[in-house]
Amino acid sequence: MPFAHDTESSLIATAALVNTAGQGDEGLPDVAALNDFFTVHSYSGRHEHTEAELRAVRALRPRLRRIWHADVDEIVSIVNGLLREHRALPQLITHDDEPYHLHAVPRDAPLATRMAVEAAMAIADVVRGGELRRLRTCEYPDCDNVLVDLSKNRSRRFCEAGCGNRAAVNAYRARKAAARS
Ligand SMILES: [Zn+2]
Ligand SMILES: [Zn+2]
Repeated sequence: MPFAHDTESSLIATAALVNTAGQGDEGLPDVAALNDFFTVHSYSGRHEHTEAELRAVRALRPRLRRIWHADVDEIVSIVNGLLREHRALPQLITHDDEPYHLHAVPRDAPLATRMAVEAAMAIADVVRGGELRRLRTCEYPDCDNVLVDLSKNRSRRFCEAGCGNRAAVNAYRARKAAARS
C-alpha cells in the first residue's frame, strides 16, 4: 500500500465526503445520513447528531473538493490553511484496538474540525509522497465524483458509485454491436 493505514482510510473518507456533494442528490440530507457516514467510515470521538454539526460538515465539502482540481501550490495552501485554522498538533495515539496513528486535534473537537484536519493530514502525505496523481476524478461521462486511486499500478479510473460497472456494460455492448456489424 502506498500510504500508512490511517492516511488511506482518511483519503477514502475524504473522497466519499466530497462525493456527498456531487451533481446528484444531496448525500448528507439529514442528521441520520451523517450518522451513517460516521459509522461507515469508522469515525470515532465526539459526534453530536445535530443540525449544526451537519451544517458544519456540509460546509467543509467545497474546500475539500477543490483539492482534487487544484495545482500543487493551491493544494498546499488549502492543507496549510486547514492545519493552521484548527491549530493542528499531531500526536500518535491508540484507541479502540487500533494501531498507533496520528490525530492532530483532540477527539472531543467538533466532527467537522476532525474531518478537516484528518483530510489535511492525509493530503499532506500525498503531497510529500509526490503522489497527487492518485487524486483523480471519475472518467465516466458526466460523473463528477472524485476518487483516490490506491491501486498498485495506479489503474483505477472510476468512482465507487457504480461507474466501473456501467463502463464495463457499455464496453460489452459496444463489442457486441461491433461483432454484429
Ligand atoms: Zn483514531
Ligand atoms: Zn463515477
